[in-house]
Amino acid sequence: MRYWRVPLDAEKVKIPRGEIHLIINRCKGCEFCVEFCPRDVLVMSKDYNVKGYHYPEVAVPDQCVNCDLCQVICPDFAIFCLPQDAEAKSDEEVKDGEG
Ligand code: SF4
Ligand code: SF4
Repeated sequence: MRYWRVPLDAEKVKIPRGEIHLIINRCKGCEFCVEFCPRDVLVMSKDYNVKGYHYPEVAVPDQCVNCDLCQVICPDFAIFCLPQDAEAKSDEEVKDGEG
């Protein structure tokens, strides 16, 4: 994607990465997640799940930006995304957050 100007804080912003998880047998093949993913990460599989539906698979994993749209839009809670570089917070950070 090409922007008409570079944001002033572009060098400080770190693009998040996500890891997609599928619960294949919950899927009913509606394709919402494939259709609305802003990064075209997902495609429909040619295989079937136990219910007889095609389900999505991850085509370009490194394009996922952990936006959670697929997770929010799925009517069957069959897909979710986790941050790829999630780090456990230290006890100190947790205490600071409480203050
Ligand atoms: S989290 Fe966002 S970018 Fe990643 S697969 Fe889902 S909709 Fe696409
Ligand atoms: S939105 Fe959910 S039910 Fe629809 S194809 Fe994607 S994973 Fe399957």
